[in-house]
Amino acid sequence: VKQNPGEAEFHQAVKEVLDSLRLVIEANEEEYKKSALLERLVEPERIIKFRVPWVDDKGQVQVNRAYRVQFSSAIGPYKGGLRLHPSVNQSIIKFLGFEQIFKNSLTGLPIGGGKGGSDFDPKGKSDREVMAFCQSFMTELCKYIGADTDVPAGDIGVGGREIGFMYGQYKRITGLYEGVLTGKGLTYGGSLARTEATGYGLVYLVDEMLKQNGKDIAGKTVVVSGSGNVAIYATQKATQLGAKVVALSDSNGWIYDAEGIDLDVVREIKEVKRGRIKEYVDARPSAEYHEGKGIWTVKCDIALPCATQNELDLEDAKTLVANGCFAVAEGANMPSTAEATDLFLEKGILFAPGKAANAGGVATSALEMSQNSQRLSWTFEEVDAKLKQIMIDIFTKMADAAKRYGVEGNYVVGANIAGFEKVVAAMNAQGIV
Ligand code: NDP
Repeated sequence: VKQNPGEAEFHQAVKEVLDSLRLVIEANEEEYKKSALLERLVEPERIIKFRVPWVDDKGQVQVNRAYRVQFSSAIGPYKGGLRLHPSVNQSIIKFLGFEQIFKNSLTGLPIGGGKGGSDFDPKGKSDREVMAFCQSFMTELCKYIGADTDVPAGDIGVGGREIGFMYGQYKRITGLYEGVLTGKGLTYGGSLARTEATGYGLVYLVDEMLKQNGKDIAGKTVVVSGSGNVAIYATQKATQLGAKVVALSDSNGWIYDAEGIDLDVVREIKEVKRGRIKEYVDARPSAEYHEGKGIWTVKCDIALPCATQNELDLEDAKTLVANGCFAVAEGANMPSTAEATDLFLEKGILFAPGKAANAGGVATSALEMSQNSQRLSWTFEEVDAKLKQIMIDIFTKMADAAKRYGVEGNYVVGANIAGFEKVVAAMNAQGIV
């Protein structure tokens, strides 16, 4: 805390991970102390922090601050998304980068951990303004990334449009047509099924978790928070598997549709018009729109928080449990507060933490890297089948690790241990670096 003042989210993430690794740490205390393993693990290999000047549509110069945290390259090139949101600061990027190390390890693919972003707010900006920002951002970032060193991707506020602008600028400056970013468009090296991957992967993992616990997703009522990339495709896959999604949200409010969310309406609002979720009731008058927080008061069997960090607190968790919710899987990164997570575990709720449950996105990004290196494009079905298998494997790894350490069913501990073990083995093999 003394070394990283004011980094509340980073402290929270490190504390949660180290607390849950207590069993492993105690068993290897001497060795970790001698090699300062934990001290090295929590210190990013490198933080790049830079100014992004750009000109808005009125001719006014704007300045944003941007980051790339290259946290760990123990098991592969740095890999992790770029977030564009006014809340972005060093603490948030470090917490995300730290979590990413273990998530990427869990996928079983050779990717290290990193994260980046800026406090630029793409909301309400014209396409030209977004392009001006992205080009200026990449003009600096391109010095530090590359297909074999650091491969950023999208995150909140960074979708296909932004990746396109960034890729164009990278190519223009470096002259390289290489897989330096993932989440690219299909016409220039993107992977089929990447757009769907995080949401689909989340539901594949939930499906497996329920099956292994004698339950079935078909016929269940699901609440999904957010209405962005992850939320939309989680809703689609859950619906395809026979569940009914009844609520979605954005940072202004939430909708409830007792008949099940009509995803065509949502996609039109979010992906085409870039509008707000409250517009849903214009097309579906029988649905309800509520301003503000409160989506977790909707009665459900399964809750899938897919919006942002700390969006589900202890009170929300109590309400969900009281309403009979039996499974929670995190599509977003750290959406449940530590107290909420503890309550879920205490009450025996099937709880899949974000680093496992939302790893489908980065896993498919790694598949995009493989396709770029091979100069090949796989079919949607090939990528989707690989994604599904990866999610099943992730579930198995975290369930097995939890069992090995005598905390069966505690997937928070299981996911952290399984991710951590591989990183530690790689760090030990590579000497003091
Ligand atoms: P998007 O920007 O596409 O969507 C985010 C959604 O969350 C929007 O609907 C947004 O609403 C909503 N939201 C943001 N803040 C709040 C809030 N305080 N309360 C309620 N809703 C809110 O992002 P993604 O879907 O890509 O990402 C969502 C989460 O998933 C993030 O935590 C991200 O890190 C994580 N994730 C994403 C991956 C991916 O592949 N996209 C991979 C792994 C994790 P509004 O429009 O009002 O801002």
